[in-house]
Amino acid sequence: MFSKLPRNLRKTVGFRLALWYSGIFILSSVLLFALAYFLLSSSLSRQDQQTIQLKLKELSALYETGGMESLKREVTVEKKFEKKAPLLIRVAGSDNKALLLVIPYQWAEFDIKQLERINPTKKMTWIRLPAKHNKNVLEIASVRLPNNYVLQAGKSTEYRAKVQRHFREIFVAVMIPLVLLALFGGTFLAFRALRPVRHLITTIRSIGAGKMDARVPSPQTGDELEELVVLFNGMLQRIETLINGMRDSLDSVAHDLRTPMTRLRGIAEIALQSDQNGETCQEALSSCLEESERILKMLNTLMDISEAETGVMKLDRELIDVSGLMKEVLDIYHYVAEEKNIDIHLTLPPDLSLIADPIRISQAMANLLDNAIKYTPVGGKIDIEARQLKQEILIAIKDSGIGIPREEMPKIWNRLYRGDQSRSQKGLGLGLSLLRAIIRAHKGRIEVLSEPGKGSTFSIYLPAHS
Ligand code: ADP
Repeated sequence: MFSKLPRNLRKTVGFRLALWYSGIFILSSVLLFALAYFLLSSSLSRQDQQTIQLKLKELSALYETGGMESLKREVTVEKKFEKKAPLLIRVAGSDNKALLLVIPYQWAEFDIKQLERINPTKKMTWIRLPAKHNKNVLEIASVRLPNNYVLQAGKSTEYRAKVQRHFREIFVAVMIPLVLLALFGGTFLAFRALRPVRHLITTIRSIGAGKMDARVPSPQTGDELEELVVLFNGMLQRIETLINGMRDSLDSVAHDLRTPMTRLRGIAEIALQSDQNGETCQEALSSCLEESERILKMLNTLMDISEAETGVMKLDRELIDVSGLMKEVLDIYHYVAEEKNIDIHLTLPPDLSLIADPIRISQAMANLLDNAIKYTPVGGKIDIEARQLKQEILIAIKDSGIGIPREEMPKIWNRLYRGDQSRSQKGLGLGLSLLRAIIRAHKGRIEVLSEPGKGSTFSIYLPAHS
C-alpha cells in the first residue's frame, strides 16, 4: 500500500511514527471488537441452550404427570407464541418415528426426517442439524422419557446469526471512519511531536550556512524535547561566545603583538644602521631580549588561560595551608609594597586548608596582589583575609586603590583588556583572565566589588575539602 510513496517520505521518522500510531490504534480497536463479538456470540449461544434445556425439563415433567395428552395440550398453547419464540418440539417412539412434531413454518429449510436416523442414547444428547441451503443450524437437545420415548426441543441459530451479522456490519461501518481517524490522528500527532526536531534540523542547517546566531524556537511544552531545545540553544550560545572570544582574542593578540614586534624590528634596524660599535649592539640586543621575553610571557599566559578554560590544564592538587601560601606570595611583593609605602594587613586563621594546585593558586593570588599594589597609590592600604564559610573558603584582597569604573567592570575579565587609567602601569591585560580561568578550573568562583577612587575588593570562593 505504501510502496508507491516516495522513498524519502517512507524513510522519515514522522511517517513511521504515524504508521505506528495508526497501526496500534486500529489493532486495539479490532481486538476490542473481536472480544465483544466473541462474548456476544457465546452469550447468545448459552442463552439458546438454556431455553431449550428449560423447555425440555418442563415438557418431561408434564409428560410424567399427565402423559402424552398433557404434552399435546401444552404444545398447542406453545404454538400460539410460536412467532415470538419459535421452538421445535418432537416426541418420538422407541423406533424413533415422530409421534408429535411441532416445527415453526420458517424452519422448513431443515430436513427433520434426518432425526429418525439419529438415535440418542445418552440421558441428554445434543444434535446439530444443518440447513439445506444456508449456514443456519438447528440445535436440538434430546432426553429419554420413562417409557423409552424420545423428547426433543430445538432452536435454529438463525436469530443468533442475524444479530452477529448486524454486529459485523456495525463493526465495518465504525471501522472505516476509525481507520481514517487513526491515519489522520497519527499523522497529526507525529507531525506535532516532531516539530522541535524539524526546527533543530533547520537551525543546524542555518548554522552550517554560517548563521551563528540561529536558535531553535522553544516548543514551551515542558517535556524532554523542550529540555533538549533549551540545552541545545545553551550549547549554541556557549559555542558562539567561545568563537567570538577566540576571534576577539586573536584580534587582540595580533594587535598586541604588533607593537612589541615593531619595536623589536626598530631596535634591530637602528642597531644595524649605526656604526656598529659593540656597546650599541649590546644595548640593542638586551632591548630585543626584554621585548621577546614580554612576547613570550604573553603567549605563555594566553596558552595557560586556554588550557585552564578548556580543562586541559593539569592540576596537581594537594592539601594547602592557606595562611602559609598567602605569606609566601606576600614575600615576593613585600618590597614593592614597601617602596610604595603601602600597608598590608593580614587576617589569616592558622588552621585553614584547602585541596588545590599550590602553584596555580599562588599564581592566581600573585596576580591579585600585584594588581592591588599596582593600582593603589603611595601610602594606601591592602587587607588580605581568608575565612572558612559553610562549604567554601573565601580569600579576599581589598585595596584602597583607584577602583574600577562601572562601565569597565564587565570587560576586566577579557583577555588583553586594560583599563583606561591603568595604561601608565606595566601589564599585559591577562592577569585577571588567568586568575578567573584558574579559579574556575578549581570549581571556584570570583566576585569583585569596586568604587572608583575608593578601592576594589576581589573575593575568591574555593570549595572546602570535606
Ligand atoms: P593588567 O593589570 O595587566 O592591566 P589584568 O587582567 O590584571 O591586567 O587587569 C585588567 C584590568 O582590570 C586592569 O587593566 C585594570 O584596569 C583593572 N584592575 C584589575 N585589578 C584592579 C585593581 N585592584 N584596582 C583597579 N583596577 C584593577
